[in-house]
Formats: sequence, C-alpha cells, structure tokens
Amino acid sequence: MPRGDGTGPLGQGPGTGRGLGRGGGRGRMGGQSLGPGGECICPNCGAKVGHKLGVPCYEMNCPKCGTKMVRG
Ligand SMILES: [Zn+2]
Repeated sequence: MPRGDGTGPLGQGPGTGRGLGRGGGRGRMGGQSLGPGGECICPNCGAKVGHKLGVPCYEMNCPKCGTKMVRG
C-alpha cells in the first residue's frame, strides 16, 4: 500500500517521566482541640467552674475542695 509520506513515527513519545509519587503531607492528628473559654473541672469532686480567660485551669483551685482544676 503506497501511502505517501509517512509522517512521524507512530506515537510512543519518550517515556513520560512519572513524577515522583510522594505521599502528601500527613495531617497531624492534633489531640483535643482546646478552644478558648470553656470550663474547668475539678478532678476530685467534679465541680465545674467557668474558665477565666488568661488563667489556666491548673492555676485555679476548686471552690469546694481546693483541688487544682483541670481543663474540662
Ligand atoms: Zn473539687
């Protein structure tokens, strides 16, 4: 079959470099999300106290038993 001009070779370009497949960054599984505000809880008696901004719970004492509060 006379086929005029054979233009170009059949497809097959140069091996297309495959980009280095790299797993993207791994999301960090942050622990508890401590938002502002909230409550402080006494681990001893369970009393809850409104958390004061700027004062960490562990610096507050339970009004009932005096135990250091923890973040609720
Ligand atoms: Zn308490």
